[in-house]
Amino acid sequence: MKILKENIIFAMDKNNKPAMKAKSGDEVIFETCDCFTDAIKTEEDLVSGIDFSRVNPATGPLYVEDAKPGDVLKVDIIKIDLMNKGVSVATPGLGRIGQDVKAETTMIFNIKDNTTEFKGKRLPLNKMIGVIGTAPKDEPIATGVPYDHGGNMDCTMIKEGVSLYLPVNVDGALLAIGDLHAAMGDGEIMGAGLEIAGEVRVKVEVLKDFDYKTPLIEADDKWITLGSRPTMEEASDLAINNMVDLIMKNTDLTLNESGILLSLAGNLKVCQVVDPNFTMRMELDKKYLLK
Ligand code: CA
Ligand code: CA
Repeated sequence: MKILKENIIFAMDKNNKPAMKAKSGDEVIFETCDCFTDAIKTEEDLVSGIDFSRVNPATGPLYVEDAKPGDVLKVDIIKIDLMNKGVSVATPGLGRIGQDVKAETTMIFNIKDNTTEFKGKRLPLNKMIGVIGTAPKDEPIATGVPYDHGGNMDCTMIKEGVSLYLPVNVDGALLAIGDLHAAMGDGEIMGAGLEIAGEVRVKVEVLKDFDYKTPLIEADDKWITLGSRPTMEEASDLAINNMVDLIMKNTDLTLNESGILLSLAGNLKVCQVVDPNFTMRMELDKKYLLK
């Protein structure tokens, strides 16, 4: 099952018409455009020349049968395949040094054997998904915005081999995926990673008894809670409180003990500080969440 990239949306919206239907347990491939809807092909193509109503597309949505509000959608990220060419940019006003950027720069990167080159230096890839989420319960949320439904979280840990748990807010969940990065550093400080088109193979599963309300990542060795809010402080507090809740739900630790555990062994990290909400994450080794 493959959703082609003709099926793109620019808002996560309960009224979006499903591009495909799947059953819990199915594997589905999402073919994705890059964040500029594949409009930048050469280093002469500038961000100012593209249609800004068509940035950050997500492919979908996928309607997952039997997914009901209150359920959780488990999305196993099985494989990310990239095209052989990607792009990154510097644009006046965009990103953390955007105020000092006077002229636009577009850089094209060739991808070969899981690596690329930055001006003669080898730059390893860390393939990841920038935009992934379900439809929110109420008003549509633009695909460029991260929030409690997922969206543009730009988290380097949303990568091959992990499972992402997303809340189901509407019938069918309406999963959409886009904005692949061949490489991105934590923070994504210029507002763009190594933007690239590609394909993502996922397995979707509806969980009826997994009581969790915001995006959560399970990696081999750790659990990762996420928080997306207008400031880093608010986003951090949400990620931290989500992890405290998770600890208290799964262990006999008190609030104070949970806090001390996170103070000693939890790692608060930045996902991105450039999108309309900032996204932070709290990582904790799995062994601490066992009784
Ligand atoms: Ca992004
Ligand atoms: Ca991006």
